[in-house]
Amino acid sequence: MANRFLPYGRQSIDHSDIAAVVEVLRGDWLTTGPTIEALEEAFAEAVGADHAVACSNGTTALHLALAAEGVGPGDVCIVPAITFMATANAALYCGAEVVFADVDPDTGLMTPASLAEAIGRADGHARVALQVHLAGQCEAIDEMAELVSAAGAVLVEDACHAVGSRWKGEPVGNGRHARAATFSFHPVKTIAAGEGGMVTTRDAALARRMRLLRSHGIERDTARHERSESEPWWHEMQALGWNYRLSDIQAALALSQLRRLGAFTARRRELAQAYDAALSRANLPVAPLQRTPDCDPCLHLYPVRIDFEAIGRSRGEIMAALAGQGIGSQVHYIPVPDQPFYTARYGRQDLPGARRYYARTLSLPLFFGMTDEDPGRVTDALAAALGT
Ligand SMILES: *Cc1c(COP(=O)(O)O)cnc(C)c1O
Repeated sequence: MANRFLPYGRQSIDHSDIAAVVEVLRGDWLTTGPTIEALEEAFAEAVGADHAVACSNGTTALHLALAAEGVGPGDVCIVPAITFMATANAALYCGAEVVFADVDPDTGLMTPASLAEAIGRADGHARVALQVHLAGQCEAIDEMAELVSAAGAVLVEDACHAVGSRWKGEPVGNGRHARAATFSFHPVKTIAAGEGGMVTTRDAALARRMRLLRSHGIERDTARHERSESEPWWHEMQALGWNYRLSDIQAALALSQLRRLGAFTARRRELAQAYDAALSRANLPVAPLQRTPDCDPCLHLYPVRIDFEAIGRSRGEIMAALAGQGIGSQVHYIPVPDQPFYTARYGRQDLPGARRYYARTLSLPLFFGMTDEDPGRVTDALAAALGT
């Protein structure tokens, strides 16, 4: 067991998950059947939102939310520089442009100040600000919603890391402050469905529009058809949508995993505490991610901050040394404006907080199936890799 490879993240599939999928396979529906509705209801309830719209992945969740909001050419979406590129790409899918916001160098999160600065650079065109709850942490959601609203825009939460997180005692994604929140069920995320996504909102019209767009823009409800005399086969395409549907097979897995969310959250919290304690005992030049006030995160990642320049070792060397001890690690994220596509589009961006965050971050393994000993083992391997 000592040499068991520890990836930085991994799904946990138990008998209940397998049974749930098999049950759907034996049933009548493989896609867009009753399991989708059951998942949507359970998810909405879990995060305290009125509506939840299931879709094929976290990227299509972002695209649906922005498209249903009416984002289009001439609009700007504000996106923090530290995120997965899908957050920015979704804006471009809609024909909008992106203004990248800087982040706090110690949390990796866009702050009210960096959001306000980015709104200024959007020059009156800001339509949506996407806040990314990096690693599952969040901050000042109410304050940011107010800032955005004063600029005539709305806040959308990219909560792909934050299922199970709470802010000021309430679940993230409940739609109290933001127009919508998006989630991913990719296997490295806290809830795995193979692929899968969800958008939550309190806005019934937005939810209806997202349901329309996720299946080609086809309206099934005859009461909403533009043509009044409907033949029995009549169905109407009312907007240009896509096939962004989730299958019932995936929904069954997501629903079963959602029932385990309490256990997932508790275990991630225990493991994060074990890391915090082991790192502080080891007295290494390694700091856990700066924690934000008012947030009780279900950590999706366990990023640490290491001043590689100061210790005179490169991140690549440390990652290779960890891998040599059977420990995976990863970097979340390369600043999106530094991707060649975005640099070609917008030029080099001067975002010092994002640069400093990126220079020091390293994500250590964090997933449900880790043992109580694993955070200590990773810390020992890190100490060896750092040569302390
Ligand atoms: C994973 C992720 C996405 C995209 O989700 P997919 O399901 O992989 O399409 C978007 N934003 C963030 C912050 C993510 O971590």
